[in-house]
Amino acid sequence: MAGTTLKTEAVVLRSIRYAEADRILHLYSATKGRIGAIAKGARRPKSRFGGRLEPFFRLNLVLHEGRGELLTVTGVSTVDGYPRLRASGAALDAGARACDAVLRLLDTTEPNPPAYNLLCRYLSMLDDPAAERGTSLATALSFRLKLALAAGFAPELAACASCGEADHLTGFSGAAGGVVCAGCEAGSFPLSEEAHAFMVTAVGSPLAEAPEAEERALRQVERAVSETLEHHAHVQLRAAA
Ligand SMILES: [Zn+2]
Repeated sequence: MAGTTLKTEAVVLRSIRYAEADRILHLYSATKGRIGAIAKGARRPKSRFGGRLEPFFRLNLVLHEGRGELLTVTGVSTVDGYPRLRASGAALDAGARACDAVLRLLDTTEPNPPAYNLLCRYLSMLDDPAAERGTSLATALSFRLKLALAAGFAPELAACASCGEADHLTGFSGAAGGVVCAGCEAGSFPLSEEAHAFMVTAVGSPLAEAPEAEERALRQVERAVSETLEHHAHVQLRAAA
């Protein structure tokens, strides 16, 4: 068989039934960014792939790269199946939103280890029943902010994104790409100190130490991240929770 063999670790973002017994996989890999692959015969009862080719599975994959756009899965073993995540409706929902954000924001074959590791850490948190805050809106937004940072679309938080002024930062402008001062607030929406502080802390902390904030502030954060990504990455994300 012509072509090359690729071995990589990857997370299944989406798994689609295809033809009689196949699956098409949208994968986010540690070493090749986004990969599209086909697993032939994966839906047959005695498939050697077993039930692993489902969303959220973290896998070691052997893939054959031929002439087509899709790679062919030739070998697979499980790194982590996150069984407790699968047993919780809230965790499944949070995981699905996270995978959807990765699908929309990271669509190239450029490897992005910070983004890959962030996704794996979040799935581990959602799989840990002791991590009560895993499914919280604050953690979902911390994930989203850190993902934007990893993808190169972090909002400007230190000074006015329009004029550089360091004080009186009272608004947020997606078009400007960050916080804005009172003099540059045209086209912005009001951003509370609490929402601003949340973003600064979330970007600088590990995901497991995501800060807390009131729901109202968190919704401002969500809007700030969404508008930044719409303007600068041309990506629209689903609601964070
Ligand atoms: Zn300004």
